[in-house]
This record gives sequence, structure tokens and C-alpha cells, in this order.
Amino acid sequence: MDALDAKYPFFASAREAVAGAAVSLPELVAADAPAVERARERVERALLEGTVASESGAFPGESAYDAQAELLSYPIARILVSLLDSGPAIEKYAAAEAATAMERVRRDLETDDELRSVSTPTVGLDDLLAEFDLADAVRPDATAPAGVRGGAGGGTAGGATGGGAGRDPDGYRIDVGPYLRLTSPEWGDSWRLVNRALADGAVRVSRAELLAALEAAVEARVAEGLPFELAADEGIAEALESRVADLRRLLSERTYAEPPDVVAPALFPPCMTNLIEKAERDAALSAAESFALMAFLVGIGMTPDEVVAFCADTSLDAEGIRYQTEFLTDDRGTQYPPPTCETLANYGICHNEDDHMQVAADPLSYYEKRVAAADEVTDWRDGRESSEAGED
Ligand code: SF4
Repeated sequence: MDALDAKYPFFASAREAVAGAAVSLPELVAADAPAVERARERVERALLEGTVASESGAFPGESAYDAQAELLSYPIARILVSLLDSGPAIEKYAAAEAATAMERVRRDLETDDELRSVSTPTVGLDDLLAEFDLADAVRPDATAPAGVRGGAGGGTAGGATGGGAGRDPDGYRIDVGPYLRLTSPEWGDSWRLVNRALADGAVRVSRAELLAALEAAVEARVAEGLPFELAADEGIAEALESRVADLRRLLSERTYAEPPDVVAPALFPPCMTNLIEKAERDAALSAAESFALMAFLVGIGMTPDEVVAFCADTSLDAEGIRYQTEFLTDDRGTQYPPPTCETLANYGICHNEDDHMQVAADPLSYYEKRVAAADEVTDWRDGRESSEAGED
């Protein structure tokens, strides 16, 4: 069981390592091994934050979990997701596994050849293409500028060697079949085949686009076979019952049919006002703080553009806002309002001012009540529109 399998647990070699492990999954679950808690964290963070990285530290080597727990947490997370049996949850989970994996791939590819070593195993583009049977379908683009051409590789699964010229080229050609399978016109007009340079049955893509297509391949691999039925006699479902119930509660708490759809900062709950004021003082928000704020703003019906404008004079950068709000506003059926008051209290974000945890269980509900009770509500968006009109 090596660190690379733990880092990329959807690889075929990782699956073999799990199959060959001395301990069985039912035994691990029955013993409530660390891999079980890590699996819960994996799914929870996927559903709430779009990542499966451990909160205890970025991979590799910094996670509180060892390589075995990391690796085994993946099949257990798949079991948890299967038990949740929710289409949107499966999609979120697969997307988060893929996003996290590709973040690691990008870091691996940036690792200087000389720094590649057995102690920091890295994956190269060749390895990734081979993993998804794309080795023959993707080639460096011969028309790319001289000096940036080379093998598609940048290392091996063992990470001991760099590949070919050592630097990856900027452009590639991918056979049209795999291109159509891995990309979607929904990603934007530039992905439509009619807008692509097509020659000899292959489509030209940039390196960033190739990585986006590979992310789709990872996502499809993770989603494959989910949800699956568990053998009734192994007792896994029973042993995971409370963790599944917690995750299910989390999901249902996060499904709101109708956001208030009015932006009245004066009526925001104190937790959110505090976060906004902190960001306005140019202080950095922690990941949990920024997620809570973004989820609240999206939850009250703001678009990513509106959130960017609303946070223009704060420490939050537009790119980060867009990434987070677009994840939160996806159109795949699940909306993600902010965590509950209880969770925010655990993160130190809520100080339960005026004991209003008694009033609502989460900031959105609290805000909804305040909006409903207010005599007059001024929508921040109206003021923005009139000032924009005044500028014309
Ligand atoms: S009780 Fe809830 S709404 Fe009120 S400040 Fe705390 S987290 Fe925010």
C-alpha cells in the first residue's frame, strides 16, 4: 500500500491494494478504525466544501491519517455515499474527489524533476493518460512552439523519474472520440467542436483544457457503480447507521426550496455581519468563515456576480468568491445554505448573541424571520442598480 495509492485512491493499482489488504472493510467498519472517521470527513467535506482533502492538513504527509487510513477511507466513503442513496450527493461527491485529485495532479506536475523522489511520490501526465486508456489518444501538439514540446510525461507512478524533455508541452491533440466523451458543450462555447481546431481526427487543446478533460475522467471513474447494494450479511450498513444519519441530516438541512431573495445587510444575523466586518477590515477569513459567508449570501439568492460586487472592498478575492459561489449555486438540484448555528458555534463563528439560537437553527432561517418581521426592507441590489444607472 503506497502513498501514491492513498493520494489517488481511484487508480486501478489502489483498488488492487485495497483488495489485497490484510484487513477487510467489514472488519474495519466494525472496529470503527480511523479510516471510517476519515471516510465520513471525506463525504462531509465533499458535500459542504467541494473537497475531500483532510481538514487535518493538505496531502501529502501532512494529514493526521496515515497512508493506509487515507486509502481505505475511499472505499468506505463510497459505501457511505451508496447508503445515502441521493443522486445530487453522488454527483457532489464524485466532483469533489475529482477536483481534489486534479489539484494534487497540478501540484505534482509543477514539482521540479529534481525534487521528485520516492519520499514524495508524484504522478506524471503519462501515468494519468495511461490510467484512463488515453495514452494513444493524446499527443503533444506538433505545432506547439519549439522548446515547449516533449513527451507527455512528467514522472512515473513511482515518481522516481522525469519523463522525456521533462517539461510538459503547452498544447496537445486529443482524438475526437475521447474529446467528445470527456468534455461538454455546457462548459462554454469554446468547448463546442465547431469552435475547435480539428485535424486528422484530433482536437487541439491547451494543457489546462486537457487537465479539465482528465478531471471529468476522474469524476466518471469515481461515480461509476454508485450507488451499490451492500451484502446484507456483512453488517456494514448497521455499523455505519449513525454516520449515515448525520450525513443525511446534513443534506436535508441544506435543501431549501425558496431562498428569501432579498439582500438587506441591516437584517443579516450577527455571525454574518461579524464576518463581513472582519473582511472589510482586510483581515483574512478562515476557510470555514469564508465558506459560511459565501453559503449565506448564495442562500439568500445572490448570484456570483452580486457576491463579487458585494464583497468588492474586502479581503476576499474575486476569483475565490467565484469559485466558491459557483460551486454553491450549481444547478444540479442541491442548494447549500450555510452550516447550522451549532456548527458555526463549534467553529467559533457564532457567539450566540442575544441567545438567538433559540430563534432559529441556522443563519438563513434567522434572516428569513427578520425579513418577515421588518416593516420596511431595502434591497442592496436596488441601490446598486440606481447608482449604476446614475453612472450611465
Ligand atoms: S445563532 Fe445562528 S444566526 Fe445567530 S449569530 Fe449564531 S450562527 Fe448566526
